[in-house]
Amino acid sequence: MNQQENNIEKQYFGRILHGRYSSALKTRVSEGIKALIECEKLAHSIIPYIAAWHEDERIIWYEYAGQEFSDLLDCSFKSLAESFRKSIIDQRVYRYTNRERKVEERIISRDELRGAWKGLREEVKESGRVEAVYKVLTSDNNTVWLKDQASIETFEEDNTCISIGFLTDVTKEMELKDLFQRIGYIDELTKLPRRSILDRILEINIGNLQRGHIEDFVLMLIDVDHFKLVNDRHGHQAGDHVLATLADVMKSTTRKQDEIGRYGGEEFYGFTVGDINIGLKFAERLRKRVEKYRFTYKKENIPITVSIGLVSATQVGKVESLTADQLIFLADKSLYAAKQSGRNRVASAV
Ligand code: GH3
Ligand code: MG
Ligand code: MG
Repeated sequence: MNQQENNIEKQYFGRILHGRYSSALKTRVSEGIKALIECEKLAHSIIPYIAAWHEDERIIWYEYAGQEFSDLLDCSFKSLAESFRKSIIDQRVYRYTNRERKVEERIISRDELRGAWKGLREEVKESGRVEAVYKVLTSDNNTVWLKDQASIETFEEDNTCISIGFLTDVTKEMELKDLFQRIGYIDELTKLPRRSILDRILEINIGNLQRGHIEDFVLMLIDVDHFKLVNDRHGHQAGDHVLATLADVMKSTTRKQDEIGRYGGEEFYGFTVGDINIGLKFAERLRKRVEKYRFTYKKENIPITVSIGLVSATQVGKVESLTADQLIFLADKSLYAAKQSGRNRVASAV
């Protein structure tokens, strides 16, 4: 036994390496452990692990887990699986649906979780990849969010699956996300900021403009063309699906300094710091991207276009007396002009 194998042996608390399993599975586990030990030396913020279970049983055990994991739960390696299960308050599972290229979030409460383990594992086995976030109560009564990213391998001969992955502490991110949801920052359907956030964005940026921190900014109102027809022809669910997809498409067109939100119904807003020419380019990029994108619902094509009206702050008049209402009024007027001139257009004030 060389030094490294000796080290593994000391830290090993699993079943596979000493049990009656195929050499393929044993090799995979021992190679995996070696690699994870190396990983752990490089990065402190992640907890690597290998979990295993028999396909016909509901019990998971660990073949390996970073020291931090048992420190966090204040338990021995042997009781990790049980301690972990007991400390979970809720779990969010992120599925990667191939068909729609979307990530769905599902929150599973602790009670539901008890019955859901098996189904979850089945599903994961099929996709081979899982991402979940666990809300965990630690031994010192702190709430910690752990993100679990793993890939699953099945060893048919052994009737056994192993999951090799990493846990990351994402408490800060999740608390912020929950806070945003609690204060109503995010619109449920589109996952974009709501209208109330636009009021705040405008208020802050009018202030920045008046103090000379920025030279100009642009507000745009974006309205889906003939959206009523989408609902009439394809149904309200299709309409909802289109709005959620449209939000993703538009969001992917933005740069760091741009913001897109839901204004209400089938109307959205866009915001960017810069003058009207920068705004026009942004709007045109959005319009084209939407026009080109193939929206589908249950295999039916749903062509979508948007009309965009925009205004820049310096177009309004006196900067000292500029108000959010004036900006919205003029952007809306431009939007009306874009609709009147045939839709699928961009129009600006003045
Ligand atoms: P225009 O080109 O003039 O904008 O035509 P339009 O049909 O888009 O305009 P209109 O304002 O007459 O209709 C908007 C429609 O959008 C009516 C409403 O039912 C639908 N709508 C608003 N919010 C939602 C939503 O959240 N989901 C769905 N499915 N439909 C929505
Ligand atoms: Mg409308
Ligand atoms: Mg419309």
